[in-house]
Amino acid sequence: MAQHQARKRFGQNFLVDEGVVESIVRAINPAASQNMVEIGPGLSALTQPLLQALDRLTVIEIDRDLAERLRRQYPPERLAVVEGDVLKVDFSKLGEGLRVVGNLPYNISSPLLFHLVQFADRVIDQHFMLQREVIDRMVAKPSSSDYSRLSVMLQSRYRMVKLFDVPPEAFDPPPRVVSAVVRMTPLPEDRQKPASFPAFEQVVAKSFAQRRKMLRRGLADWAGAIDWAGLGIPETARAEELSVAQFMNLADSLYAAGVVKG
Ligand code: SAM
Repeated sequence: MAQHQARKRFGQNFLVDEGVVESIVRAINPAASQNMVEIGPGLSALTQPLLQALDRLTVIEIDRDLAERLRRQYPPERLAVVEGDVLKVDFSKLGEGLRVVGNLPYNISSPLLFHLVQFADRVIDQHFMLQREVIDRMVAKPSSSDYSRLSVMLQSRYRMVKLFDVPPEAFDPPPRVVSAVVRMTPLPEDRQKPASFPAFEQVVAKSFAQRRKMLRRGLADWAGAIDWAGLGIPETARAEELSVAQFMNLADSLYAAGVVKG
């Protein structure tokens, strides 16, 4: 088959290290009848070993040439190729019990992670290769320098475990950054939920917009409506010191007071 020239605009860094491919597939642990979706199959580094274990796989690929290549390589009853931008894919059309995997295009990692949150109800788990720095932020705990909006928003919906690092040499062309693999498992139905998700999003975004300032100042417009003692949050707290549960309680109180709209 013709050589494929890696396209930078699609974040194409292809995995070429078989040991790394094996480790990722072992971490995913695919079983025949599962409903798996791979984002960005590229030149099939993960697709091929996944298909060895699965009856059927759905892939989402934006690059027309790569999508065409995949359609030629595998029969449609084994590989369903969705050609297009994953950010526009409605995962509710792909069924229930989804296992989502991928060596993701790093240029869209945050929007993609947020896009997937809305489908978390139908997801069993997600295994992603991402820039290590992004994974460090996803799994960061309060009072660490990596704790951020991404940490709070994702930890409110998933349990996340960083599995292992992957060096640039494992790819062709090598990216400029170290990568890592993360496992994301949606939290159970009885998890704490914000009264209004949009209100929670607004409160977290505004809190972290000035992460070094005291919340009392960062949230100045709303601060009058906050019962700090009732929420068990010191008046001198900064965003990076609040737990995910405290952010939800804070957002719920501001929503209930009508200060933040849902
Ligand atoms: N899975 C392959 C591997 O491990 O070698 C390729 C990984 S490469 C980092 C990312 C892949 O995602 C590329 O195939 C790229 O064309 C595809 N891609 C980039 N942006 C995308 C988007 N918005 N929607 C779907 N696929 C995308």
